[in-house]
Amino acid sequence: MANIGFIGLGNMGGPMAENLLKAGHALKVYDLSADAVAKAVEAGATKADTVAQAVSNVNFVVTVLPAGKHVLSVYDGPDGVVANAAPGTILIDSSTIEVDAARKAADLAKAKGFGAVDAPISGGTAGAAAGTLTFMVGGSEADFASAEPILDAMGSNIIHAGDSGAGQAAKICNNMVLGVNMIAVSEAFMLAKRLGLDAQKLFDVSSKASGQCWALTSYCPVPGPVPTSPANRDYQPGFAVDMMLKDLKLAQQASAASGATTPMGALAESLYALYSNGGNGGMDFSAIVKMLDGEK
Ligand code: NAD
Repeated sequence: MANIGFIGLGNMGGPMAENLLKAGHALKVYDLSADAVAKAVEAGATKADTVAQAVSNVNFVVTVLPAGKHVLSVYDGPDGVVANAAPGTILIDSSTIEVDAARKAADLAKAKGFGAVDAPISGGTAGAAAGTLTFMVGGSEADFASAEPILDAMGSNIIHAGDSGAGQAAKICNNMVLGVNMIAVSEAFMLAKRLGLDAQKLFDVSSKASGQCWALTSYCPVPGPVPTSPANRDYQPGFAVDMMLKDLKLAQQASAASGATTPMGALAESLYALYSNGGNGGMDFSAIVKMLDGEK
């Protein structure tokens, strides 16, 4: 069993840390939130007062932080992960961040001889709690092989996407598909409504026809057809509008930097920004159907 330093115990990191504890690993945990730390300590982790304490004398460091600037600030500097972890430590970053920031974090780690992977996650808070996350991993074959047993305790699909940054690239491409699809599915339901077509009937047809997609069959944006979808609980997240907006922004930044053309992704970003600016950033991202229905 491994000694792990775990930094970032939020909606995703908290339950992921608990699954590592359940698998028998020893965890030293650090977060800016005292409540988040207390919860992990209750589950069996040891409290660290600083990043340096969390990462000293461990085999692995796992970070699950909001954005690239947080990851780089936690990795870098005299009080950071890279300056304080023991030689040979494997660094696993499961935050969703810019491809460039992921490569920069990996470079900082590799310059000091650490193994490093970007390993962003898909599956939401339910997947984090159930230990069924999908990990998209960027890094060398050797670093992937080192990280895999730790990721196995938190997820059920562990995919090696390529070199450093490839995990983040897979994550933002996938979520761009999801953002665009959710808007397309929502438009179809609103058109059906105006045409007098029952929502359940559209679902019955499209879920068996060429309109079939995850946004429809697993996360239907109107109440009724999929009992577990947030539409049946007043669009409480789930996966918040502002999280989707963050991922669509990352996709557009990467698109501009790489010369790709992603007009549907750009439009999805604009529509989610509009919906967020209306005060809906905390709603589930499927609630965008309400804006398309003419609601504020
Ligand atoms: P969150 O805001 O709930 O948790 C982030 C945690 O990091 C908080 O507890 C915060 O206190 C802590 N933190 C921030 N800065 C810190 C620092 N400098 N040092 C120590 N702790 C610090 O966010 P989340 O929902 O857990 O998401 C985490 C990451 O996972 C994000 O990058 C997000 O995009 C990604 N993600 C989230 C979901 C989801 O459904 N929530 C799904 C897939 C991926």
